[in-house]
Order: sequence, then C-alpha cells, then structure tokens
Amino acid sequence: MQSELTLNTDANAQNTRALKDLIIVGGGTAGWMTAAALSRCLPQGLRIRLVESDQISTIGVGEATIPSIRAFNQLLNLDEDEFIRQTQATFKLGIEFVNWGKPGDSYIHGFGQIGRDQVVAKFYQYWLKMYQAGKAPDLEAFSINTVAPRHAKFMRPPKDMPNSPLSDISYAFHFDAGLYARYLRGIAERQGVLRTEGRIVEVQTNAQNGHITALRMESDDLISADFFIDCSGLSGLLIEKTLQTGYEDWSHYLPADSAIAVPCTSSETLLPYTRSTAHQAGWQWRIPLQHRTGNGHVFCSKFMSADEAQAILMRNLDGEALAEPRLIRFTTGKRKRAWNKNCVAIGLSGGFMEPLESTSIHMIQTAIMRLLSLFPDRGFSQVDIDTYNAQNDEEYQRIRDFLIMHYKLNQHPDSAFWRYCREMEVPKEVQHRIDLYRSHGRIFRLGEELFAEASWLQVMHGQGLRANGYHPLVDQRSEEDIAYFLSQVEKTIQKCVDVMPTHAEFIAATCAAE
Ligand code: FAD
Repeated sequence: MQSELTLNTDANAQNTRALKDLIIVGGGTAGWMTAAALSRCLPQGLRIRLVESDQISTIGVGEATIPSIRAFNQLLNLDEDEFIRQTQATFKLGIEFVNWGKPGDSYIHGFGQIGRDQVVAKFYQYWLKMYQAGKAPDLEAFSINTVAPRHAKFMRPPKDMPNSPLSDISYAFHFDAGLYARYLRGIAERQGVLRTEGRIVEVQTNAQNGHITALRMESDDLISADFFIDCSGLSGLLIEKTLQTGYEDWSHYLPADSAIAVPCTSSETLLPYTRSTAHQAGWQWRIPLQHRTGNGHVFCSKFMSADEAQAILMRNLDGEALAEPRLIRFTTGKRKRAWNKNCVAIGLSGGFMEPLESTSIHMIQTAIMRLLSLFPDRGFSQVDIDTYNAQNDEEYQRIRDFLIMHYKLNQHPDSAFWRYCREMEVPKEVQHRIDLYRSHGRIFRLGEELFAEASWLQVMHGQGLRANGYHPLVDQRSEEDIAYFLSQVEKTIQKCVDVMPTHAEFIAATCAAE
C-alpha cells in the first residue's frame, strides 16, 4: 500500500488529489471494528474520524460470532484472554437447534470438521453408508465440536497434539457487543482515530457527481471528507437516506421481520454454544455470556403479534430478566450496492439477514477486508467498486441460501408460519442442493462460500432430510472395516471430551472477567 492516497473519481478525473479524510458514521460494532482495522492497516497520513451520537443508541444485540472473528482479533493484535475479560465473553463451539426439524428435535451445527476425511472420500460418505444401513449412530457422535457441547466442556486446541481430535476444536465467542465496541474504540483512538460525538442532521452532496461531501452536525459544525463509510445501522443514513441506493427485499425467503430482545441472569451451567429454539412463528436465541445471558425472539409479524412473541420469550427465559424487553423491526435483504459513489455501507446499513447462524459480525469483518483489498488508493475506480459489490452480493446470496435451508426443511405439523416456509419457492441453488443431497448424499461447496460441506450436512441432516445414497467409492472398503473406522473415531472423540475441563472451569482458570 503506498503511503499517499490520491483521489481520482471516474466522473471527475481531473480532480486528482491526495485522499486525506475518511469519515466513519456510526459507533456500533460495525463502526468501531472498521475504525480499529482501517487505522491499523492503512498508511498514516489518512485522517480517520468516527462520528457517533449518544442520543441514537446502537442496536444493542449481536453477541454470537463464528470462528473467523479470531482472525479479525489477530489482525488487531488483541490478546485473546484480555479480549475475553474485557467483553465478558464465553467460548462457542456451535449452535444447538431445538425443535427446528419438528417439535422435540435437537441437533448441533458444530464448527469445524466431522470425522477425518479419507483420500478416497469424505468422512461423512462412510458414515452415510453405515447410517443408511442402521449401523452407525447419529452424525453428532463424530465431531468434537458437537460432542463437547453436550457435556458443557471446552478447551482451546493444544498445539502439540496434531493427530488428536482435540486439535480439531474450532471455536468462536459470545461477547457483550457494547463492551466489544468500547474495547475497540480504545484501540482505534490509540491508533489515531478521532471521535466526534453528535447527531448528524444533514448530509451534503456534490451537485455534479452526487458524491457525499460533508456532514452537518446538530451543533452546526460541518465535517467534510473524501470518503465515507456508512455504519449508521438500519437507518442507512448515507447509503439510503442520502444516496437512495435501493434495497433488495428478501422477506419472501426469510419472512421474519421482528425481534424482541432481553438479557437475563446466567444459569448454573455455562454452555459453550448458542441455542436456537423454534417457536410457532420464529425462534428464540440464547447466548450465554460471563455476566448474563442474552435472549431474543425472532418472529414474523404476519403470523404473530409482538405481545404474543414477548410472552413466549419471557416464559422461556432460564433466568431473571435484567431489563425491559426491546422490540426491533427489520427487513431481511441487502442494499442494491454496498459501495455507491464515495460511500461504502458496512454493518446493518448494508443489509440484514436474521442472526440464525451468527453471520452479521462476520460480514462486517469480510466487508472491511474487502475494502482494504480494494481500497481506493488511486482514486475511485468503477472496476474496483463493481468488484467490491459483486463479491459482496455473492457472499450475501450464499449465506442467505444457507439460512433458507433451515426454514425450507421443516416438518412442523400445525403452524401456518412453518407451513409457509416449507411450501415457499426457494432460489434454484437451494433446491439443487436439496435434490443433490437427497438422491446420493452429494454436497458441493460453491466457490469461496462461507459454509463448508460439514455445515450444509449438519443442517440438512439435522432438519430431517435423508440421503438415498452415498459415494460409490466407499464400497472399496468392507463394511467391517468401515464400522471399525467409525467406532475408532467415535471412541477417540469421547475419550478426549472426557478429559476436557468444563467450559466454566476453563474460563475460571484462564480468562474470567473481574
Ligand atoms: P448500530 O449498532 O445500530 O450502530 C449505529 C450507529 O450509528 C450508532 O452509533 C448511532 O449513534 C449512529 N448513528 C445513526 N444515526 C446517526 C446520526 N444521525 N448521527 C450520528 N450518529 C448516528 N450479528 C451477529 O453476528 N451475531 C448475532 O448474534 C446477532 N444477533 C442479532 C440479533 C438481532 C435481533 C439483530 C437485529 C441483529 C443481530 N446481529 C447479530 C447483527 C449485529 O447486531 C450487527 O451486525 C452489529 O451490531 C452492527 O450494527 P451496526 O454497527 O451496523 O449498527
């Protein structure tokens, strides 16, 4: 990256000058993650300012992550134990889906791998053959990330045991979003980010090319910059209210449009996973932190009133409520262009898909990395902007399809909401995946999509979809040989879990908050 940034817009090519000022609007998770990463990775000489208003609160939810967050924390050079203490975090090995396939069901979508893939075929193909013959237990027995959660056990993967299932442990965190933003703010400010507190009341644009030029504050101050990152949350202050970029509404695929959130006191056993429990017209999340448990009920207002949704949530808390329940409305979908003119939308301003697989913070992170790799250091180039938007769209669509899969594959007998989801027309890629798996147990990861075969498998199988075949190369090994192989994997994982500490013990010994 060169040390001086120049601004050369396609629309106004003669206007080449150093890119001096960048403004991030919003101080939620997206704003402070962006500020901390850009101030660490971009050359000095670029002034980064973050504007946030104490009068406009952050969304206040968003506490479950996936393992990629660790790479982001490493980019910032965070000490993991310190980060955990500062944010009251716990560890997360996966998500338990309760009542999702049908009432009474439970499965865990664990991070990481399942069994050990062989040269000839993936592990799950051997399992499929035996499972179909009624000679293997359910999938959950073959991943340390699904067995350990059932015993509330956790440890970090040891570095010196490469052949043990312990080295396969893949983890993320649950953390307090407000504390995470505060922690990152400290880092960003130490790296030179300037913070301006105040409400933006007007966004000014250039009459010729439509670029954003300045923000007028309630105090009447005018703050100008060359480049703007919109982290203003669901309102999309710059990307939508100002640039009118447009929104692709996906609520026909993901119809939930509301959530009620409430924290409660912690329960006795500290679980190392998020729990998602299906209800009549949506589902409830449970996110255990060190100092409290985060809860929320995501629901579809066409099928359930907010009062009913709140009553269900409050009935199903496993601790004492610590605040008044809060209603949040949203529309699933994404901005038609995440990067429009001299503005990039990151976080909720760019779009929202419900938190079923904890992908939003991950998408903030990938947006930041994408922006860094396409940063307009030689001015705004349409090819860079188009590439950014194409990559963003691809990522959104693949994750959307994964979420749709959960809903589409349900067998709830008597709920209008779940019937709608079961009968809705899905994108052709989703139907293709269902057909491929059902016929021969085939799963293919598309391009650089986030979710690997193991994730698709756990969800499709967990939701009750059954494969009618398996990879023919599996038949090269005798049934006895495969049975022995599976039982060895199962036993080794169980032995490893037996010696692991509980999640609570691990935290108490390494990274308990004061
Ligand atoms: P916000 O937190 O809303 O921040 C917006 C900021 O903009 C605030 O600082 C505000 O002051 C500022 N602002 C707005 N307007 C103005 C103005 N006029 N002047 C000055 N400042 C202004 N993600 C996950 O990864 N995992 C989860 O488990 C998860 N759960 C979720 C559950 C629900 C119900 C919802 C809705 C979202 C969830 N998310 C989750 C998403 C996650 O919460 C967000 O991605 C994340 O918090 C980022 O939000 P944000 O920073 O974009 O917006």
